[in-house]
Amino acid sequence: MAAAAPQYAPRDGDPVLPLFSLKGKTAIVSGAGAGIGLAVADAFAESGANVAIWYNSNAKAIERAQAIAEKWGVVCKAYKVDVTDQADVAKHVDQIAKEFNNRLDIFVANAGIPWINGPILDNGAEGHEMYHKVISTDLDSVYYSAWAAGKWFKQQGYGSFIATASMSGHITNIPQKQAPYNAAKAAVIHFCRGLAVEWAGFARVNTISPGYIATEISNFVPQETKDIWKEKIPFRREGLANELKGAYLYLASDAATYTTGTDIIVDGGYVLP
Ligand code: NDP
Repeated sequence: MAAAAPQYAPRDGDPVLPLFSLKGKTAIVSGAGAGIGLAVADAFAESGANVAIWYNSNAKAIERAQAIAEKWGVVCKAYKVDVTDQADVAKHVDQIAKEFNNRLDIFVANAGIPWINGPILDNGAEGHEMYHKVISTDLDSVYYSAWAAGKWFKQQGYGSFIATASMSGHITNIPQKQAPYNAAKAAVIHFCRGLAVEWAGFARVNTISPGYIATEISNFVPQETKDIWKEKIPFRREGLANELKGAYLYLASDAATYTTGTDIIVDGGYVLP
């Protein structure tokens, strides 16, 4: 039997456990105009953080940031940043940290794109180009973000860097053929492990590997593939972006002061069988 999706009752007046409070902290979340990033930005704001939402093409991010600011009484603003452009990333990290109380506590490198081209031997020039685009958006962007955010973390002596990897960084996710995406996400996990050691004196570095989550990125997946996935997921359903909030909040907050170099898989048990 499928495990039921949780109902989210209004939580007005619920106290936030102090360990999980982000009150007064500055957070940047990339790829946050929709989907997982937007849910994460909302959770951070609910816990008291001032949040900079990064988007690329989805200008709805601007009004969504405004709505979050009004809902939780924090500063929440949207910025258009191309995460594949190192200079753009560096410029915005510095600008935002200065604008948001001269500090940067949390950076979530979440922007990403899927591989939709199928088997690589079917690739022509367009497919080769797409390979580089996936590596650039899903992996290089994490390096660019870490380089820019890490400077602040080192100077301050604290910080939490979180990258969104994927269950596809652990398994090949049959029947989908997505070797370049597998490679990028596996590399994100291992890059962050290395960084956790490098930054052990001043910041924590972790990844989160979502399973199959119903967002825009999964719209391209054919229904037959989704049905096969659901059969393979012990919970027998896709996850919701909201169901990732707790994992990100944990890693961002003081609840995780002894947690670094880890990957939290949130997938309804998909990678287990
Ligand atoms: P979305 O498509 O909603 O989010 C992806 C985000 O990445 C978009 O907001 C998009 O911004 C942003 N983005 C893409 N290219 C760029 C770029 N060059 N510069 C800046 N931003 C960019 O899907 P999800 O919320 O599901 O995806 C979020 C992350 O989660 C991704 O890294 C994805 O790989 C990962 N993931 C998702 C899973 C799922 O099943 N949904 C499973 C495992 C991992 P814009 O729309 O403004 O262009």
